[in-house]
Amino acid sequence: MNMRIGHGYDVHRLVEGRKLIIGGVDIPHEKGLLGHSDADVLLHAICDALLGAAGLGDIGRHFPDSDQRFKGISSILLLTETVKLLRERGFRTGNIDATIVAERPKMAPHIPMMIAAISKAAGVDPQSVNVKATTTEGLGFTGTGEGIAAHAVCAIVIAAA
Ligand code: MG
Repeated sequence: MNMRIGHGYDVHRLVEGRKLIIGGVDIPHEKGLLGHSDADVLLHAICDALLGAAGLGDIGRHFPDSDQRFKGISSILLLTETVKLLRERGFRTGNIDATIVAERPKMAPHIPMMIAAISKAAGVDPQSVNVKATTTEGLGFTGTGEGIAAHAVCAIVIAAA
């Protein structure tokens, strides 16, 4: 089996007056992530991991934030498009593992819905998607609540012809 791996990392600033969308889930919170799209930090990290595995650069190259088409767009659509780009090049998503880094709010109650949304958009079994969350014990920009970060790794395989 010809397998490739990829890594992604993203950060968005937490501000008032924005929705908090993570992993395609609208999470009740007094602040949300700032960005050109819906600023879904987790999905952006996953897209970058998938593009990285395929050797296709990064999310900014395919979905530039200077492009008005992507303003306010649901990042679920970016993930769907990313998987389509990979499929066109003969790659199939193997598994995805990701970590959200946030002091607040609690992510655990929302993780099952995130996994459902990600697996649906990426066209993989829910068992092939793992999402974790951690705090940084009050340290750094995630600890102070200035922002939220996400890391992702994935494996992709060259689909059988
Ligand atoms: Mg981003």
